[in-house]
Amino acid sequence: MHIHHLNTATMCPLGGRLVSGEGRLFARARLVCHVLLVETDDGLVLIDTGLGLGDIADPNRLGPKWVRQVHPRLDPAETAFEQVRALGFSPGDVRHIIPTHLDIDHAGGLPDFPKARIHVHIREHEAAVRRTVEVKRARYIDDHWAHGPDWKLFGNGGEDWFGFKGVRPFSNRETDIVIVPLPGHTPGHCGVAVRGDGKWLFHAGDAFFHHGQIETPPAPMPFALRIFQRKADTDRAARIANQERLRALNEAHGDDIAIFNAHDPASFDGFCGHAHG
Ligand SMILES: [Zn+2]
Repeated sequence: MHIHHLNTATMCPLGGRLVSGEGRLFARARLVCHVLLVETDDGLVLIDTGLGLGDIADPNRLGPKWVRQVHPRLDPAETAFEQVRALGFSPGDVRHIIPTHLDIDHAGGLPDFPKARIHVHIREHEAAVRRTVEVKRARYIDDHWAHGPDWKLFGNGGEDWFGFKGVRPFSNRETDIVIVPLPGHTPGHCGVAVRGDGKWLFHAGDAFFHHGQIETPPAPMPFALRIFQRKADTDRAARIANQERLRALNEAHGDDIAIFNAHDPASFDGFCGHAHG
């Protein structure tokens, strides 16, 4: 399986090293939206989407406060849509999307692939789309699913996978892509693991934010990122328990499973330009 690493939205909030752990205090930090594009027998599969063309054409829909604080670069060339084309594929070749969750900076690309099937945990769908589970309203953008996506919802239930519960292959035909429930940051937040070349790549979404968090012992986290993480929690105890599981997984299987999160520029740069599989 061929796996591409894409950064589909650079975000430059103020705060320098308080956000990213490096750089000057009052410089802008650099965060990424780390997305995987996987070539499978069943077409292309996108894991997370970052921001989309519609967000860049009309940043107001993201909320002026979010745009001011997060300061996304808003470059159309960064979108998954344009990067899929730059790799020589057609956006219509993207048959499936597995967003780790539906927050603003993960679901923006959904409308750019209107025919793709969207695989989401039912709790996330309830929080973001049906709004029957209460989460801060501004986190989710209705425009991201106004096109009426082909949702494929799943609930709890699945198998054990390296100590994680309720893990399921994303389809019966493709068992080298598995969805791992990691709630806490949002109600239906999941990680997605992809096996290519005998090794797993484990995209943990926003289950953690800084690579030092899953080291043993955990390294201190940049201050502003720690505040952000805490403010964004919808279930703090679940988030902490999942981070402990990720740390244990990294300690025991770090050579065979590369765990990374959506926004850490250091992990993205470590993969950048390398295709696996
Ligand atoms: Zn995020």
